[in-house]
Amino acid sequence: DAFLKRHAATVRALATYTAWGADAKLMDALPKLGLISHFGVGYDSIDVAAAKQRNAMVTNTPDVLNDCVADTAMSLVLNVMRQFPRSENWLRAGKWHAVIGYPLTVSLGGKTLGILGLGRIGEVIAKRAQAFGMKIAYHNRNQKDVPYAYYADAVALAKNCTVLLIATPGGAETMNLVNAKVLDALGPRGFVVNIARGSVIDEPVLIKYLRENRIAGAGLDVFVKEPQVPPEFFALENAVIYPHVGSGTVETRTAMGDLQLENLRLYFAGKPVKTRVV
Ligand code: NAP
Repeated sequence: DAFLKRHAATVRALATYTAWGADAKLMDALPKLGLISHFGVGYDSIDVAAAKQRNAMVTNTPDVLNDCVADTAMSLVLNVMRQFPRSENWLRAGKWHAVIGYPLTVSLGGKTLGILGLGRIGEVIAKRAQAFGMKIAYHNRNQKDVPYAYYADAVALAKNCTVLLIATPGGAETMNLVNAKVLDALGPRGFVVNIARGSVIDEPVLIKYLRENRIAGAGLDVFVKEPQVPPEFFALENAVIYPHVGSGTVETRTAMGDLQLENLRLYFAGKPVKTRVV
């Protein structure tokens, strides 16, 4: 508030990221605001409609993070199906004896990865999953010209895959898209992996389904109220959990920062910005 009091009248651009977005109240305090340059491809922490109303542009950092987020997604698929973190904990706990080995797990090869949100990141995940011998299916609101099985809704997709991988945007439109109905369709042999936003899954329902083994497991990079992770997840052995590290490498975060800065520089130079959302 003190900063705003001193500088609000002269601020022409904002630099935001997932945890610090921009709401209508902040925009109202900045009468000269012309650009919100966001660090990240998902801009659900920005009130885009409010920005549009005030003629402020919004930019994000698409594509430069696709590979790293797809790597993270595949590691969640591997870790939840093959239980590598759990098997390592088992070894470290001194449970490995000559006769009894670690319990057998589930193969990726031949299984179907159902991608909910086959966009820029989803398509890169599909390529990687195929290299692991998986089949690909997907659901978007609009069918694409791709050689993958299309399902008209999330329930039909969940019914026809072993791993439901969420890669949609967050925000109001996808809130709780993966609910009890979808998890019932996935069933006790199905896994859910979320690299999108915590809001896309009904989190309390997911915890209940994991507890009651109504689905086989979940791999999660994102949560509803980050950085607060519901403590129930810590006790669930069929959950693999990451602290939102999808794009978290030196190379990718540098590329994202470069793109965020480039949009700011172009705007201040009076030139068209590079990756405009609205
Ligand atoms: P994108 O290219 O816009 O792809 C999103 C896809 O979701 C589109 O194919 C879209 O297709 C589909 N979609 C949107 N709304 C939908 C709905 N209601 N139901 C079904 N499908 C829907 O975005 P992207 O660059 O791949 O990024 C996707 C998201 O990943 C981001 O918005 C962000 O939240 C998340 N992300 C997470 C991390 C991380 O660190 N974990 C990093 C980067 C991004 P239709 O429009 O045809 O429906």
